[in-house]
Amino acid sequence: MIPIAKPYIDENEINAVVEVLKSGVLSLGPKLVEFEQNFAQFMGMKYAIAVSSGTAGLHLGIKSLGIHEKDEVITSPFSFISSANSILFENAKPVFVDIDEDTLNIDPKKIEAAITPQTKAILPVHIFGQSCDMDLIMGIAKKYNLKILEDACESVGAKYKNKLVGTKGDLSVFAFYPNKQMTTGEGGMIITDNEEIYKTCASLRNQGRDSMSWLGHNRLGYNYRLNELSCALGIEQLKKLPMILSKRQKVAERYNQNLKHFPEIRLPYISPDNIPSWFVYVIRLNNGLNRNLVMEKLKEVGVSSKEYLPSIHLQPFYKDKYGFKEGDFPISEKVSNCTIALPFYTSMTFEDIDYVCEKLKEVIQVIKNESR
Ligand SMILES: *Cc1c(COP(=O)(O)O)cnc(C)c1O
Repeated sequence: MIPIAKPYIDENEINAVVEVLKSGVLSLGPKLVEFEQNFAQFMGMKYAIAVSSGTAGLHLGIKSLGIHEKDEVITSPFSFISSANSILFENAKPVFVDIDEDTLNIDPKKIEAAITPQTKAILPVHIFGQSCDMDLIMGIAKKYNLKILEDACESVGAKYKNKLVGTKGDLSVFAFYPNKQMTTGEGGMIITDNEEIYKTCASLRNQGRDSMSWLGHNRLGYNYRLNELSCALGIEQLKKLPMILSKRQKVAERYNQNLKHFPEIRLPYISPDNIPSWFVYVIRLNNGLNRNLVMEKLKEVGVSSKEYLPSIHLQPFYKDKYGFKEGDFPISEKVSNCTIALPFYTSMTFEDIDYVCEKLKEVIQVIKNESR
């Protein structure tokens, strides 16, 4: 079976983790400091705070902006669920704005209509490794005095107008789950230039302590720390990131090349402002093709695939809580109903890519013939 995703790990990572095990320091040690410093330097930002997951990072991001009950945060319905959940964790209200049909990111033209006196922040999600139109979003935030928390969990190393994604908002969050471009097993990173935000996040992830000192707790905090094994893994992965991104770019180009003249599907769109950090390779099936059938038949020939992503507002507990229904965010829903993520990982060979493409074409042809 060709997997949908796979981490890119070699001897360097293995040795680094073994070294940590031998050192006996498994949390709050030198690897945490080094990983944060290296990440901040890579991003060109003053501060980086490593956390136990991207979701934890988003939660602290919301808290550090002082967002609480009755506040509203504008975000995208077409995302992994934790971007919106992080707002719910603080009993604030996620206000969804529909997406752009090409980039699949929040549509800046629709944001202003969603702003109310309760709106405190915008949480743009850079979906699938491509930046939102941040100039427009920053302009709106400035006009209405809103904060910006960037969900850059899928976009490490991507560029927007030649600047690294995640460097525009008040703070940004990255994630290192094993299917991401770089991984720490579980893990995430917050970056910011704002000292107040830095101090708050660093304290909140460590039980509300203001320093590493063991017993002074100045606020209600969490254990969102990233352990030393994960930090050591992250240090090695970050060193490789440019190489990882260039390999992933080549995988994406091969897919594009193989599939571009195939009329039954729509390829990923990259806007001219962006240099993506390829996270996944997601195609859209043209009208009338039964996605489940396509995925089932792909599975039969050893090709994994996934519906990426369901719209958040139609998840059961969002429907229950806010009464969302089909038709509320029609572009997001339309996209959610026709996307398929194909196998995509750093070490994917051209042979495997070609096999996936050949089978995809075959499967679609068979389905079309059967339905005649
Ligand atoms: C991966 C991801 C996250 C965070 O995921 P964790 O599994 O908590 O690290 C958040 N938002 C988006 C859009 C993601 O893709």
